[in-house]
Amino acid sequence: MEDKQYDLNDIIEMKKEHPCHKSKQWRIIRMGADIRIKCLGCGASVLMPRSKFEKKLKRVVSKGSGSECL
Ligand SMILES: [Zn+2]
Repeated sequence: MEDKQYDLNDIIEMKKEHPCHKSKQWRIIRMGADIRIKCLGCGASVLMPRSKFEKKLKRVVSKGSGSECL
């Protein structure tokens, strides 16, 4: 089983990249029943249910710091 521990402000990679094709990486900007992620390529944010997010999540690229503010 892969380690898919994710948290707020983490940089993550999704199985499918954003249609902008600028980046496959996203930052988690909101955690809750729904997860909001922000495309690092174009800055667009997407909200999706946690279950859908976990299905699409490929890997955690780097852990964000809690103090970081975007
Ligand atoms: Zn994008």
